[in-house]
Amino acid sequence: MAANLLEFDLEGLAAFCETLGEKRFRSVQLFRWIHQRGEAEFARMTDLAKSFRDKLAQHATVKVPEVLSQHLSRDGTVKWLFDVGSGNAIETVFIPEEDRGTLCISSQAGCAVGCRFCSTGHQGFSRNLTTAEILGQLWFAEHFMRRHLGRADRVVTNVVMMGMGEPLQNYDLLLPALRVMLSDHAYGLSRRRLTVSTSGVVPMIDRLARDCPVALAVSLHAPEDGLRDRLVPLNRKYPIHELLDACLRYLPGAPRDFITFEYCMLDGVNDHPDQAHRLLRLLRDHGGRGVPAKINLIPFNPFPASGLRRSPAARVQAFAAALNNGGIVTTVRKTRGDDIDAACGQLAGDVQDRTGVRVRMARSRSALQLLDTGRNT
Ligand code: SAH
Ligand code: SF4
Repeated sequence: MAANLLEFDLEGLAAFCETLGEKRFRSVQLFRWIHQRGEAEFARMTDLAKSFRDKLAQHATVKVPEVLSQHLSRDGTVKWLFDVGSGNAIETVFIPEEDRGTLCISSQAGCAVGCRFCSTGHQGFSRNLTTAEILGQLWFAEHFMRRHLGRADRVVTNVVMMGMGEPLQNYDLLLPALRVMLSDHAYGLSRRRLTVSTSGVVPMIDRLARDCPVALAVSLHAPEDGLRDRLVPLNRKYPIHELLDACLRYLPGAPRDFITFEYCMLDGVNDHPDQAHRLLRLLRDHGGRGVPAKINLIPFNPFPASGLRRSPAARVQAFAAALNNGGIVTTVRKTRGDDIDAACGQLAGDVQDRTGVRVRMARSRSALQLLDTGRNT
C-alpha cells in the first residue's frame, strides 16, 4: 500500500526515502514541494530525479480526506467539513483578521472527555485522527486559500488546536503534525503562533513541555472543583490544583510567559460576579505566587441537547471587567462566521443530524480537485 507522505515529519520522511533507496537529504526537497508549494503530483516536482519521482509515484501518495462541504461566510471565515470515514466528519475553520489568518484544526472524530457544553463531547468518541488527517487540514486550507485569494505568500499565520477533539488524548499522532507546522521547510509557524488547547490532561501537558513547547490554552470554565467536575468530567481525574501545577511546570520552557485560560460563559452556571472573584483569587494565589494568565471568555454557542443558555452580553462584560480590574488581562472572544455555524462547539455533530451519512457521502468532493479549482469556488 502506498504511504501517505502527510503522515511524516521531516525525520519520518527521510527514513521513508531511505527505504526507497534514496539519500536522506533528498527528503528536504520533497518535503518543501509538498508543504511549501502544496504539490501532490510527484510528476510535477520537476527538480527531483526522474527515477525518484517514479519510485514515489509507485509507493507514495499525498492524500487528505474528501471535502464534504465548504462554507464561505460573509466575514471571510471559511469552514470545511471533511469525511474521515464510517460516517464521521471533522471540521476545520479559517478565520481571517487584518494582521493574521488563524486556522482552527480538529484532532479527533468526536471526543471522550464529554464536556456538558460541547456538541463534540455530546457525540461521544469515534477515533483519533491520523497525523495525515490532522496535518492535511493545514495543508489543504493553506494551499486552497492561497489559490482562492490569489496570493503567493503564507495565508495561515496561526494555528489553534481548538476544533473537534482533545489534542492531548491523541498525543502520539499529534506530535509529528506539530513538528511539521513548526518546520522552516514546511509552514514555519513560530511556537507562539501555534496553540494547543486542552481540557487538562495533566501528564501530557508535561510531555508537551518536554517534546514540543508551544503556546498553551487551558479550558478551565469553573473556579472550583465541584462545578468543574460537572462541566469537564476529566476534572475528577485531574483536579484544578493539579492542572494549575502542571501549568506552572509548563511555563519556564514555553514560548509565551503566560497560560491562556478559556472560560465558556454559561447563563446562571459559571457567570456570577462571585465566581469571577473566585477565579481571580485562584489564579492569583495558586502555588503562593499565582499562575501568569490571560483569560479568554467564550460566549457559549448553544445547541439544543445541552439544555444550557449563553450568558447575557452585559454579564459577560461585567465578568470581564471584574477580572481586568483584578489585574488579569481578559478578552471576550468575538463570534465569527455566525452565518455558517463556524463557532466553537458547533462542529460536525449538527450536520450529521441534519443530513445523515448517506447524503453527506454523495456530496463528498475530492480535496485535490477543489485545490485545482480553488480560484473559482
Ligand atoms: N478539547 C480541547 C480543544 C477543543 S475545544 C479543549 O477542550 O480545550 C476548544 C474550545 O471550545 C474549548 O475551550 C471549549 O471549551 C470550547 N467550547 C466547546 N464547546 C463550546 C460551546 N458550545 N460554546 C463555546 N465554547 C465551546
Ligand atoms: Fe472534548 Fe474539548 Fe469538547 Fe470538552 S470541550 S468535549 S475536551 S472537544
